[in-house]
Amino acid sequence: MHEHLWYDATQVHIGGEWRAPAGGGQLDLEDPSTGEVIGTIARGTPEDIDAAVSAAQGALDGDWGRMSATERGRILAEIGRLVERKLDDLAIIEATDVGKPLTQARNDAVALARYMEFYAGAADKVHGETIPYLDGYTVYTLREPHGVTGHIIPWNYPMQIIGRSVGAALAMGNACVLKPAEEACLTALAFVALAEEAGLPPGALNVVPGLGEEAGAALTAHPGIHHISFTGSVGVGSLVQAAAARNVVPVTLELGGKSPQIVFEDADLDAALPFLVGACIQNAGQTCSASSRVLIQRPIYEELVERMGARYDAMISAPARMDSNLGPLISARQKEIVTAYLDQGQDLRVAGMGSVAEGAPEGGHYVPATLFADVSPDHPLAQEEIFGPVQVAIPFDTEEDAIRIANGTDYGLVASVWTENGARQMRLAKAIKAGQVFINNYGAGGGAELPFGGIGKSGHGREKGFEALYGFSTLKTVAAKHG
Ligand code: NAD
Repeated sequence: MHEHLWYDATQVHIGGEWRAPAGGGQLDLEDPSTGEVIGTIARGTPEDIDAAVSAAQGALDGDWGRMSATERGRILAEIGRLVERKLDDLAIIEATDVGKPLTQARNDAVALARYMEFYAGAADKVHGETIPYLDGYTVYTLREPHGVTGHIIPWNYPMQIIGRSVGAALAMGNACVLKPAEEACLTALAFVALAEEAGLPPGALNVVPGLGEEAGAALTAHPGIHHISFTGSVGVGSLVQAAAARNVVPVTLELGGKSPQIVFEDADLDAALPFLVGACIQNAGQTCSASSRVLIQRPIYEELVERMGARYDAMISAPARMDSNLGPLISARQKEIVTAYLDQGQDLRVAGMGSVAEGAPEGGHYVPATLFADVSPDHPLAQEEIFGPVQVAIPFDTEEDAIRIANGTDYGLVASVWTENGARQMRLAKAIKAGQVFINNYGAGGGAELPFGGIGKSGHGREKGFEALYGFSTLKTVAAKHG
């Protein structure tokens, strides 16, 4: 599938050059819509990671390290323009690779361009400060890049995650080594080619696809890395943090979630309904911020469950190119995991269930979108991240109940509150344990401006917005004694 494309998926990209991975290994590239192998991708090795870290350090010691913040911003702006020119191509690549419907993949490409635009403008606006101190001193702070930053990302939203993590790191003048997921690495390779066409110096961004336990583990353990940004599962996140601890390197962890939407009886249900369902099933539920729990106040519970159920009944899983509302899951393994969760719900009330499109390829990894109702807050389906199009509805009576149930998981990524009562909105915004709380919406359109991250098992550190620029830099205090 690669012939007419502008990058080579069978190679790694290091120091501005395409090269065969050390060891020459290749991994199968599968189309999740059909289950067919449609090509191969490079199997990067620890040797490639080593070369990529050296290339990144070389860029820091060279042109990239000396470049002004304004100039870095101009390059990011140009990258954004090139991404915009390639929106349709990037959407097709991502849709094929991840199995997500074309419209959703196109939104991801638009988001990538927007991240570049945002961080382009922000690059020269991160300032230090002067600090009043003893007589005879001048004290000020400098914001400096960490140096070489490692970026390990999952397969569900490659373009969005590249935008928010690599975009912010480059804006601050770091040099990056990106290890995309083995299940979906194509847009990462497409992106680095566009970035260099836009003027990014060789070595400022290096991309090494490969297996997590091989290339990924080598990156996290590498002594030449000065910061690690990891997005993925809790299990691997904890390994990454342990590896970073051995080199005493800071990490940002963007992990999973079990995010609740809380609907009070006075909510505008017509406005809420599309968000209640859509925020869970987007990308076939394979979204860290998927709202997999909906907490509904008792007086409106039956009505709302019925209306949500009807939406589920109408949902059709189909190949990405058919651009229905639901694509396949990423892999046979993910389908097994989600199917096992559906089995755990056998005794639960099914309030709505979609179907698989007629003619959807047998080998594609489709599961029907499913809404379970009357689920106890401590049931595994209400506690564990499923990462599939599966949602649970939980009834509650009082505001206190809602807060207790919402906060009753190990996670704390996103929450939303639907109510017209302003005082209640403010109380819940404070009481809910999560990195972001949305009131009468979910996700606020995902704007690049909005800091994002979790607490608890959802991780720590923030990406997106200005906050990411602090995360991807370190603060130096200069105290000059001049008498
Ligand atoms: P994963 O943890 O299995 O893989 C993520 C990345 O880590 C991949 O690139 C993988 O190759 C790499 N990896 C695997 N083992 C490694 C190791 N030992 N050392 C270093 N790297 C290793 O996650 P996944 O299943 O691909 O993605 C799904 C998870 O990601 C979900 O839990 C989801 O919630 C989370 N996620 C979080 C966010 C967020 O912003 N909070 C966004 C997207 C996805």
